[in-house]
Amino acid sequence: DDMRSATTSRQPEQILHTVFGHGGFRGEQSEIVRHVVAGGDALILMPTGGGKSICYQLPSLCRDGVGIVVSPLIALMRNQVEALRQLGVRAAALNSSLDAGERARVRADLRAGRLDLLYVAPERLVSPDFMDMLAEIDIALFAIDEAHCISQWGHDFRPEYLQLAALGTRFPGVPRLALTATADPQTREDIRRRLDLGDARLFLASFDRPNIFYNIALKTEPKRQLLAFLKRHPGESGIVYCLSRATVDETAAWLTAQGINALAYHAGLESGLRSRRQDAFLADDGLVLVATIAFGMGIDKPDVRFVAHLDLPSSLEAYYQETGRAGRDGQPAETLLLYGLQDVTLRRRMIDQGDAPEAVKRVERSKLDALLGVCETASCRRRAILLHFGEAPPMNCGHCDNCVTAVETWDATLAVRKALSAVLRTGQRFGVGHLTDVLLGTATEKIIRFGHDKLPTFGVGVELDRRQWASVFRQMVVAGIVAVDHDQFGALCTTELSGPILRGAESVQFRRDKPAEKTVAGRSSR
Ligand code: ADP
Ligand code: ZN
Repeated sequence: DDMRSATTSRQPEQILHTVFGHGGFRGEQSEIVRHVVAGGDALILMPTGGGKSICYQLPSLCRDGVGIVVSPLIALMRNQVEALRQLGVRAAALNSSLDAGERARVRADLRAGRLDLLYVAPERLVSPDFMDMLAEIDIALFAIDEAHCISQWGHDFRPEYLQLAALGTRFPGVPRLALTATADPQTREDIRRRLDLGDARLFLASFDRPNIFYNIALKTEPKRQLLAFLKRHPGESGIVYCLSRATVDETAAWLTAQGINALAYHAGLESGLRSRRQDAFLADDGLVLVATIAFGMGIDKPDVRFVAHLDLPSSLEAYYQETGRAGRDGQPAETLLLYGLQDVTLRRRMIDQGDAPEAVKRVERSKLDALLGVCETASCRRRAILLHFGEAPPMNCGHCDNCVTAVETWDATLAVRKALSAVLRTGQRFGVGHLTDVLLGTATEKIIRFGHDKLPTFGVGVELDRRQWASVFRQMVVAGIVAVDHDQFGALCTTELSGPILRGAESVQFRRDKPAEKTVAGRSSR
């Protein structure tokens, strides 16, 4: 009892100063710490860089016993344990990267009460003998990091997280915290339900990342566009995301040939090489890491100055998460996303042809559409993102490409009608290239072979050029005015949204795509 009063009398503020070296709490940290130290459960939603770690590290030091932190990310565990040890905190990790001897040592320390914090992989935590051992020691709290991994709606579902629901019944009275930077409301509710955190207090921080500048541009010449972007960040560290390993390798090689200090990173590389490259990225300044999304989860590099996407992410959540790896230190950071019609159809096909149940596919489609909405909006990007996450941001952030350079919109109703007419009169069996030939009156061999030069639609669209028609078709696909038939090599077909436009009952406003040279707004123009 004396022991207990001695330990609980340690003031959180004091530990924040003396151990962590911070001048004060940030945002809701103070309230969260107070709540958890008092034994409360918490559901904590904070953007990346918001300062989630303190929310469980500090209460672990204030309360008796060891704080158990569940994390799926070995790299993150390693970083945090190292950082904590440097602060004099007795921290350790248990994961598959340890050998039997190291594991035995950690267990011995745990039994002897020699640890303040233990990071553990979820599958290890729920193993029966580990649970039995935990039952015999003092536990300060359970922190479930990356808690969105429990949700099938999330972008990173990990089945082993489902078993964490048992912690509440197995260890009643031990506070549980679920933490995530995943912002979508569906996932939030899923976390609460699946982790059995019905009464946990919700701490919801704003998801705005004011230091991040957002650029989204049409993909015209991706490498050249990327190079122009990188030229604005000489000597700075950043990540370039590509969808496929092949694009990663090719882009990294090309950048190197351009004199940029770039390295490729993807799951196809030998693991030793991968961790050397990861370490180089963490240690060096001015390294451009070209990577598939396999890279980045749990990479705690505060001074990532830019994140570029050469391909469309799978959802608005994924985009937010991936761009969120920039500027964790709060200093200015810039992002660039390049996308085109092919990205849209590819992503839609990946969902349609995936083996998720139909209900999950519906959610995936709506999350992709949310991202496309942000891509195609003519108004503030940040506002569009934050609205999706349930916030009420101001109309203009002044810190995204659309705010800096106004986007024109135009009444595309007539153009869309002509395009739909071309789709219908050619039997809904042709793709954008051929349909554009019809509209422009270009008598290709294929046009002649199908007799499409005889259609009334042939040549009715000469007021727009090929690039403009590409823009119209892309925005039609994004808006669902036409659908892409994956079984027919990208043929466009009509949807229930086509009718009202054809009948003249509805009009359409599209954004006027900027010419290629102007697609990147640039930080200097702030
Ligand atoms: P998250 O896990 O939410 O992405 P972290 O816990 O890694 O965020 O914190 C992000 C950065 O902010 C870290 O460098 C951390 O040291 C710093 N930080 C957190 N809380 C404070 C604070 N109260 N005062 C100053 N710096 C802080
Ligand atoms: Zn804006």
